Amino acid sequence: MKESIIKTSDIAVKKVTLDAVIIGTGAAGYNCALRLNDYGVDDIAIITEGVNMGTSRNTGSDKQTYYKMNLCADYPDSPKAMAQDLFNGKCVDGDIAYAEAALSVMSFLHLCELGVEFPVNRYGEYVGYKTDHDPRARATSVGPLTSKMMTECLENAVKKRGIKIYDKLQIIEFIKNGDTCVGVLCLNKAAQSEDERFVLFNSKNTVIATGGPAGIYSNTVYPIGHHGASGVAFEAGVKGRNLTEWQYGLASTAPRWNVSGTYMQVLPRFVSVDENGNEYEFLNEYFDDIGVCLSKIFKKGYEWPFDCKKVLSGSSIIDLLVFRENVMKGRRVYLDFRKNPYGLDELPYDKLENEAREYLENAHACFGTPLARLQFMNMPAYDLYLSKGVDLEKERLEIALCAQHNNGGLDIDMWWQTNIAHLFACGEVAGSHGVYRPGGSALNAGQVGSTRCAQYISKHQDNDAFDCDFDALCKNAVSKHLDITRSILGNEDNVASLTDKYQKLMDKVAGPIRDASSFDSASGEFFGAFKDFTKIVKVNSQSRLWLAYRLRDALLAEWMYIEAMKCYTVAGGKSRGSAIYTSENGTAPEKMEDVFRFELDDGSLNDRIFEITYTGDGYGGGARPVRELPEGGGFFENIWREYRENKNIY
Ligand SMILES: Cc1cc2nc3c(=O)[nH]c(=O)nc-3n(C[C@H](O)[C@H](O)[C@H](O)COP(=O)(O)OP(=O)(O)OC[C@H]3O[C@@H](n4cnc5c(N)ncnc54)[C@H](O)[C@@H]3O)c2cc1C
Repeated sequence: MKESIIKTSDIAVKKVTLDAVIIGTGAAGYNCALRLNDYGVDDIAIITEGVNMGTSRNTGSDKQTYYKMNLCADYPDSPKAMAQDLFNGKCVDGDIAYAEAALSVMSFLHLCELGVEFPVNRYGEYVGYKTDHDPRARATSVGPLTSKMMTECLENAVKKRGIKIYDKLQIIEFIKNGDTCVGVLCLNKAAQSEDERFVLFNSKNTVIATGGPAGIYSNTVYPIGHHGASGVAFEAGVKGRNLTEWQYGLASTAPRWNVSGTYMQVLPRFVSVDENGNEYEFLNEYFDDIGVCLSKIFKKGYEWPFDCKKVLSGSSIIDLLVFRENVMKGRRVYLDFRKNPYGLDELPYDKLENEAREYLENAHACFGTPLARLQFMNMPAYDLYLSKGVDLEKERLEIALCAQHNNGGLDIDMWWQTNIAHLFACGEVAGSHGVYRPGGSALNAGQVGSTRCAQYISKHQDNDAFDCDFDALCKNAVSKHLDITRSILGNEDNVASLTDKYQKLMDKVAGPIRDASSFDSASGEFFGAFKDFTKIVKVNSQSRLWLAYRLRDALLAEWMYIEAMKCYTVAGGKSRGSAIYTSENGTAPEKMEDVFRFELDDGSLNDRIFEITYTGDGYGGGARPVRELPEGGGFFENIWREYRENKNIY
């Protein structure tokens, strides 16, 4: 690794030259660095906008799940069976699903070796449980903070190896030589002067592991501080795919935490409050039958993601009613654990559907208030909010229908390389999933993808395009960003209000309920703001430039996501997964005839992946067939011969 100073435009810029740079200190980024090091690529470094930032380190849930091949007792499982289940998520490439299955055991055991304490029985077996879209009990967990523990163990290993981490650097532009990536330009968040403002990395290989595009929505359960950098990749011409496919669910907004599991099973009161503090229980008004209402709340405990298939007669009607109060009516929605719904001292447990009634009876929890039931059944769930400054005994908990995970993302091949040569994407920023995915498979995909691209880089280190006049090449990028920063710096500061404005527009138009008739005008707003960025955005200090760049990143990403949704609906796509597309000819949820109608997708696009590429002044896009699931396996002698030649990495 070589550090030098180059003079470009009229400022000095630090330049770091190395074999590979990894962007992101989440579970995927750290693992990629470790694996590169394992495979002999030593001249590497990690860049991060904040070493303690990101979703892996700062998020969790009731029982945060890791999905791997079943390793317990005589449960029948195999790479092919797991690949098939991942592929069944629809709109998934078969080769990627196969790799995620084939490397699942290796990736999981690597984490165990690093000290992540996944539970074993007395014989040392990693026992599992079933999660959503999982037919074979492949899930495991170390508790509410699985991804945090993974990140910490991976980080310790990275530090032990002495791999250099450049902190407080936010990537703002990839440097390309033709269609090949040869480095990245960063904004130095700690800069005191223009000479310190930018840092350049000139790398043979670049891996983006910046997590999901959390900053494009206002209603989100991604941890505060996590934003993502998909817009930067799109600007470089990296293809997006399946951008339509998200996972939304009910979550508290402060702190950001999924209100799944016991939080729902104790049957809290749902309250909607207007700006004058007037409140009402909107579920009571909607449901004529208290037993049906309470049973659906209960079910939300284990049917967490919003699923358009469960709206008309299932539990997702609860999510929809929350969304209507919050986003459509502009009211605030709370869970109140201090009183029972319907103003009752005692709930009519006999009116609950069997499953809910039996569960509460078995738990001896048919008494008192939701709070009393919560403290009795799951005290740690109550303590969790207390530890984050919210005492459910004294206050209500604000909730919303929030974005939690992007199943789509940057387009990758079976080695997690993007369409820009020598630029790889792994972790949530890479879109390896489709419409549905088994719970916990995001963390598996992050570990597998980061391993796969490290394997590929180790065998294909040469980058012809790297032998170029890099200093001349990056001149344009530096002067472009010097102009941007000089133009937006001044006395005023509107970054926070603009960020909020555009995020709320996304909630309204392109969240879980999407109104295709609004796509054009919203798209115009996002793209207009991106193009006129220096005219409309103002920031009043150098130390806040990073927030302006986040907004810039979000605007382009928001535009791309909206355009992807537009392409999907123009191609005839209808409601699927966690998103409803309103349609006049569809069915309205009961008592919502005046609100919207929708039609479920007929599955005809299940084997299509929608792709979209930013072209500088517009976009190109369309649907292509999924790559089919490979046969897998092979005749040992033949595989071995090939392996001896090239390790089968090609
Ligand atoms: C509430 C919640 C619950 C979840 N539960 C589960 C679960 O049970 N099972 C499961 O499999 N998945 C779950 N997920 C998803 C999973 O946690 C994430 O997909 C995963 O942690 C993402 O890891 P990552 O390494 O890709 O990115 P992250 O952990 O988000 O790391 C991204 C890194 O990139 C850096 N970065 C970002 N932008 C820039 C930039 N411009 N410049 C430089 N650095 C940058 C950040 O600082 C950070 O270090 C959950 C997510 C949420 C929000």
